Formats: sequence, structure tokens, C-alpha cells
Amino acid sequence: MHEMGIALQVIEVATASIPPELKDVKVERIRLRIGKFSGVVADSLSFCFAVASRETPLEGAEVVIEEIPSIARCRNCGNQWEVDKTAFSCPECSSTALDMISGRELEVSSIEIAEPDPA
Ligand SMILES: [Zn+2]
Repeated sequence: MHEMGIALQVIEVATASIPPELKDVKVERIRLRIGKFSGVVADSLSFCFAVASRETPLEGAEVVIEEIPSIARCRNCGNQWEVDKTAFSCPECSSTALDMISGRELEVSSIEIAEPDPA
């Protein structure tokens, strides 16, 4: 499953971003930016994350997914538009020489760590 690999990667990145002096912390919320064009199914990713994060500081964290629209730019006329499917030709000039300028993002934008319980 595609999403499971991504979930594992997200957990790795998020875990690595927790400062080492903060041991035994719990992550409350994790925000991801995912391009619509990355092919990631948000629900599926949330599910995989929940499974894969067991026994990590991210167990039980809420996953907030921000979808980034897919923007293409025509190399021929410079037109930019939002791509909603996999149809690839410029709506202005019908050129198929395109650059994807966004939509493939897949990144951890922030993690929120829960306040530690007062000992
Ligand atoms: Zn064009």
C-alpha cells in the first residue's frame, strides 16, 4: 500500500524533528501538506498513520492534512491553471509541453507536542 510507506516516512520525519531533550513526549497533532497530484488518499493515509504510529511518540496524534492544488504551467504560452484530473494539455493553446509547478508536495508542515504532565 502506497500510503503505508508514506505514513512510515512521515513518522520518521516527525520523530526526528522532536528535540532530543524532550524525551517521552506525546505528539498531539501533526500537519501535513499533500499535493492533490501526489496520488495520496487522505483517509487511507490517516488510517495507515494510526496503525504505523503505535508505540511511537506519535501514537494517537491527530493528523491534519492540507491539500495543495495541482498547478500546471504551459511552456508554450505561459498560461497557468489548476489541474483537476490527469488531462494534460493547455486550455489556452492545447500545447502538451507543461511543467507541474505544484501538486506533488508531501511534507510535514508542523507537529504539536502535548504539554508534559507536571511530575
Ligand atoms: Zn499554452
